[in-house]
Amino acid sequence: MTSGHDDLRATLLDAVGPSGWRDPADAAGMTVDFRGMFSGTPVAIVRPGSVDEVRAVVRACAAAGVAIVTQGGHTSLSGGSVPTEDRPSVLLSTSRMTHIVSVDPARSTITVEAGCTIEQVQQAALAVDRQLGMDWGARGTATVGGAVSTNAGGLNVLRYGPTRDSVVGLEAVLADGEVFDGLRALRKDNTGYDLKHLFIGGEGSLGVVTRVVLKLHPRQDHHRTFFAPLAELEHVHELYDRACALDQPGLTAFELVPEAGVAGTIESFGVARPTDTRSDWYLLGRFSGTSPVDDTVATFLSDAVGAGLLLDAVVADTAAQEENLWVLRDELPPETLFDAKGAKFDAAVPIDRVAEYQRAAEAVAAELCGDAGHVYSFGHLGDGNLHLYVVTSLERGSRMDPALVDEVQAAIDRLTWDMGGTVSAEHGVGQELLERVAGQKSAVELDMMRRVKAALDPDDLFNPGRGAHCAPDPGPEED
Ligand SMILES: Cc1cc2nc3c(=O)[nH]c(=O)nc-3n(C[C@H](O)[C@H](O)[C@H](O)COP(=O)(O)OP(=O)(O)OC[C@H]3O[C@@H](n4cnc5c(N)ncnc54)[C@H](O)[C@@H]3O)c2cc1C
Repeated sequence: MTSGHDDLRATLLDAVGPSGWRDPADAAGMTVDFRGMFSGTPVAIVRPGSVDEVRAVVRACAAAGVAIVTQGGHTSLSGGSVPTEDRPSVLLSTSRMTHIVSVDPARSTITVEAGCTIEQVQQAALAVDRQLGMDWGARGTATVGGAVSTNAGGLNVLRYGPTRDSVVGLEAVLADGEVFDGLRALRKDNTGYDLKHLFIGGEGSLGVVTRVVLKLHPRQDHHRTFFAPLAELEHVHELYDRACALDQPGLTAFELVPEAGVAGTIESFGVARPTDTRSDWYLLGRFSGTSPVDDTVATFLSDAVGAGLLLDAVVADTAAQEENLWVLRDELPPETLFDAKGAKFDAAVPIDRVAEYQRAAEAVAAELCGDAGHVYSFGHLGDGNLHLYVVTSLERGSRMDPALVDEVQAAIDRLTWDMGGTVSAEHGVGQELLERVAGQKSAVELDMMRRVKAALDPDDLFNPGRGAHCAPDPGPEED
């Protein structure tokens, strides 16, 4: 796959220089995905340092008929940022495009290169007394370009929406090497199609995002994080309603944490158990504001405990206690805790149906896996977004029978669609969800996506074979 491209490699090296060149043999971490599910050997790995270098790479690859797969922090977990195996491809990493271009507190915007990490932008915003809305566990590695391309959500979606809501403008290099300059930092512009949105959630299929203007918000220095064992999972929606009624704009996190996750995090990371009162499920929430929110938190928790919705509650008093609580959420994917492989879902359902969804998934697991079936879920309750894993053992290194994984996946995907949900609420479709996303898209929707792709990237230069538009045609509708 890598032979026969010496001329292209020479042109690319000339375009990006030695500091923009990585030998694929020394970059194993870039050619295999996080979970080892997808891998590919690229013709070359380039790390352009500017928009002009990206253009030169795109033009050279287009002329040679070699595809480009763009990689940011490589944290998306769905095989979208791994080189292709079925077609020669160049891996374009944005790891040298890490400049904060400008910060504009008066307009509450920040302009950054696509390879900046989320944490880097958060820090730059705080330095001018502003705050970035985007935040999640992979903040130190995930990049702005990757977040835009997967429309990442995270811990603050409740308050600030997904990445789409934070993007004010963007710039991208197109398949013919031209630059789409959509960097205008306007909050309103009613002049036709808002083309930047094609790149948001586009999974790198329409171009290389090079710079982005992001919205900033007033800095919220007052936070109160709480952790509370639930009396019943079924109470989560009522709790959410109560929290919103008290202070919806101040509710910046509302997360579900299972006891198995708490126990696993304590064992693996040595954090303290926040409360002696145990439950199958815990609520990890946070209120934030520009002034103290202590009264809001106290009212919410005491009313909820009084109403029998929560068994108990603790509120973090110090930064260390707060950090301790967030470790219980940030470290949760079971891969990092007990490495048990099974069927995995990053699904979302309407927010009032989360408990019903969990219970229905438990019923599916019981039916298909018997007593061994265990449904391990955590996630963003306020977005209806659950990371749900069905495993047949919580033992480290255990693996579920692949045929059973397929059966469970098909049954829970059907459940997700029937409940008006989606099989991909995070991480994108990548290569992993192609078959599964087909079941929730109509033929018309898929056709529209493919026509957009064909119009902007007629030779399928960018990220071929991945993203929702590559899903197979949906089958005939069942009666
Ligand atoms: C511990 C952990 C927690 C996470 N939590 C969340 C969460 O709460 N919410 C959530 O939504 N996601 C979450 N994720 C997933 C992931 O962090 C996000 O999808 C993130 O936005 C991916 O960014 P990245 O830079 O790593 O992109 P990559 O993984 O490198 O790429 C993702 C996709 O974007 C494309 N791409 C990357 N950069 C560009 C660019 N400049 N131009 C064009 N295309 C590009 C790639 O080709 C690929 O298709 C989590 C991941 C981990 C490991």
